[in-house]
Amino acid sequence: MSVAAEQKTKTLKNYVGGSWVDVTGAELHDVINPATGAAIARVPFSTAANLDDAVQAAKAALPAWRGVSTIARARKLFELREKLEARKDEIARCVVTEMGKTFPDARAEVGRMIEMVEAATAIPTTMQGRILEDVARGVDAETIRQPVGVCAAIAPFNFPAMVPFWFLPFAIACGNTFVLKPSEQVPMTQALVFESIDELGLPDGVVNLVNGGREVVEGILDHPDIDAISFVGSAPVAQIVYERAAQAGKRVQALGGAKNHMVICPDAVVEPTVNGLIGSGFGAAGQRCMAGSVIVTVGEAHDRVIPTLVAETEKLKVGPGLEEGTDVGPVISCDARDRIAGWVQRAIDDGAELVVDGRDPGGDLEGAFIGPTILDKVGRDDAIISEEVFGPVLTVINVDTLEEAIEVVNASRFGNGVSIFTESASAVRKFRHDVEVGMVGVNIGVAAPVAFFPFSGWKASFLGDLHAHGPDAVEFFTRKKTITSRYFSGGHDSGSYFVER
Ligand code: NAD
Repeated sequence: MSVAAEQKTKTLKNYVGGSWVDVTGAELHDVINPATGAAIARVPFSTAANLDDAVQAAKAALPAWRGVSTIARARKLFELREKLEARKDEIARCVVTEMGKTFPDARAEVGRMIEMVEAATAIPTTMQGRILEDVARGVDAETIRQPVGVCAAIAPFNFPAMVPFWFLPFAIACGNTFVLKPSEQVPMTQALVFESIDELGLPDGVVNLVNGGREVVEGILDHPDIDAISFVGSAPVAQIVYERAAQAGKRVQALGGAKNHMVICPDAVVEPTVNGLIGSGFGAAGQRCMAGSVIVTVGEAHDRVIPTLVAETEKLKVGPGLEEGTDVGPVISCDARDRIAGWVQRAIDDGAELVVDGRDPGGDLEGAFIGPTILDKVGRDDAIISEEVFGPVLTVINVDTLEEAIEVVNASRFGNGVSIFTESASAVRKFRHDVEVGMVGVNIGVAAPVAFFPFSGWKASFLGDLHAHGPDAVEFFTRKKTITSRYFSGGHDSGSYFVER
């Protein structure tokens, strides 16, 4: 890149205490457009001291913010919804530029982000407590919900708009204050979103944005004034976050990596099934935590479905996400592309049959491109079956029965998402009952729950108790307090509460 172009590259700021702040003295890293390889911004790697500024602002804002009425907090979210809706295309274009997915996909992601805000506006209803009159003579018991305190979220690269919003709107709706650390690979989208947050006129410090990498994460895990942590990212980092945050006595939910299966029964309807497999396996270039990765065909399903899948895959157009007609954009970086290509080679070496090879997508593509790839006749014990590839690669295993297919699914150490394709209600009943997976799709390739339901996997895909969004969000972002009370001036009995029940 020329010096002139480099000088034009924007350096991102943190958003702390209601203002945009320059992060002085921090290391700067380039943010790369994966479709071109060009640097499009510089992101500061904040230090523990920079993080502390944000945490202190959040801590200072807490008493006033939790004192704002629940209804007024919900109204701020209604306002935010309108502001984000008005900038939907702009935010989506930013997602494409820094992350690589196609524009329609990015627009759908921003739609899902806005849906989170919509779900959080229900807080005057969802945060209500419970009361039972007369638990003893003249005695009432009630449980109320109060905010947890200062909450922090750490996000991955693959959903720059949506994943931070699995937490932010619910946290502040419940009266908490909030610190977000976006992925250093895709920090620009939240910088844009925070422009809309800034316009809301929230009290200073209610929401804060701290850019950076590992040092900020470690600072969050150890900070004595952070009460709750939400993490989304790879399994090894989820493990570190969960253990270290729990050790420090914090509330924590850590959503980790995945290896998702798509089971095809012999009676599956071919065309929509193939559409589901393609959308799931190759959408966002296979970089969704809910991306289908292992196709398990049962009996003759293999010969009914795989030839059509191969033919349709070969028609997919690989290119920049903003280019009209692109089906599959780049992966996040050239390192990721090379790692994915390494997995394909390893599977071939282990005996798999390469039926669609995307390793050289052709044309004059300069960025981190690797096209849709299909490997057939993969062994159940091959390495590629157990590890997350996180790229546009589908592997196919054929089994004889549904029971065997369920065995393959349950053998995985992950348990994020799974889909079954069939018209048989009894097969579905057995499948949904027996699979050890948190999110199940029936004739749906990417069964990501909407904002009003909880989102999370099982096993190594999730550490914690309470899932993201839906009713679990209110559970996670509130503490329950139970009050038992009685009064005497109305002539109530003043005997012992313990013996008179
Ligand atoms: P990642 O684990 O590399 O990074 C996630 C966050 O952790 C980033 O903010 C990063 O700065 C930080 N981080 C990275 N390494 C760290 C370390 N050693 N110590 C402390 N912090 C560290 O994940 P990614 O590559 O950005 O995202 C892809 C991964 O996220 C995939 O494994 C995918 O399955 C997973 N993911 C899971 C879900 C889910 O719901 N389970 C959703 C989206 C993504």
